[in-house]
Amino acid sequence: LELTMDELLTYISCPMRYALKYNAKFDPKGIPEQEEFKQALHTCIYYFWCKIMNENSITNGDLNSKWESLWFGKKNISREDIMYDGVNKEVKLGYQGFGYIQSFFNRMQHDPGVPICVAKDFDVPIGDHIIKGTFELIKETKENGRRIIEIVDYKISPSMPDKDRIERDIPLTIQSYAFRKLFQAKEQKLTYYYLNHNDSISAHRMMHDYNRVTYIVNSVAKSIEDNIYFPREIHNYLCRDQCAYKTYCKEWPS
Ligand code: SF4
Repeated sequence: LELTMDELLTYISCPMRYALKYNAKFDPKGIPEQEEFKQALHTCIYYFWCKIMNENSITNGDLNSKWESLWFGKKNISREDIMYDGVNKEVKLGYQGFGYIQSFFNRMQHDPGVPICVAKDFDVPIGDHIIKGTFELIKETKENGRRIIEIVDYKISPSMPDKDRIERDIPLTIQSYAFRKLFQAKEQKLTYYYLNHNDSISAHRMMHDYNRVTYIVNSVAKSIEDNIYFPREIHNYLCRDQCAYKTYCKEWPS
């Protein structure tokens, strides 16, 4: 089976949601604004790294202009709205975005490291299947005077996760495995960078992590092949607050 990272993680979070999203192909109306905001921020961060990779420099003005066009320009928000309409939700989010990319720029500008690839898709065999994902950023950087390879993934989340969770995180394990397999090299650090906290948390991977993820991929793929789709425990906040498919889910009270 070929599975995207999103398919794999959707099945793990709720097999019923996987069936609604990928088998029945239900399409909840529009992209939620927060999702649009995250995508625009990611595009802005990729722009930063592409400029560093191709031109070896970027100014604060470049990055601000990019954010302005990605958010305010795309939503047709005028300069007057930006200046005077502080209560509009889209304007507020736009300001928040300015704050995040400003903090990111301040932190990165003096020693960003050397990007090796930005927003690069990969296909990697894991177990009996192929997993498709994306490296947001792989870069060479310095730590204690030593050159290291770091894989970085950007996030926006209300709170920072604890270190234990990052040590077992499936997407990071898959990225580590894919990097080693495809680049025939070993990364020294895997990092989640939380744009809204301007803070990061890093982890490492070992053989037992790959064994665990291989077992998970094989089990999920087998369940999909056998058409096993069960709901998660209902009335859970993951149903109530985080499932865009609940209106299509027969488990969810109408
Ligand atoms: S409402 Fe809950 S059980 Fe139903 S698809 Fe969404 S997450 Fe799964």
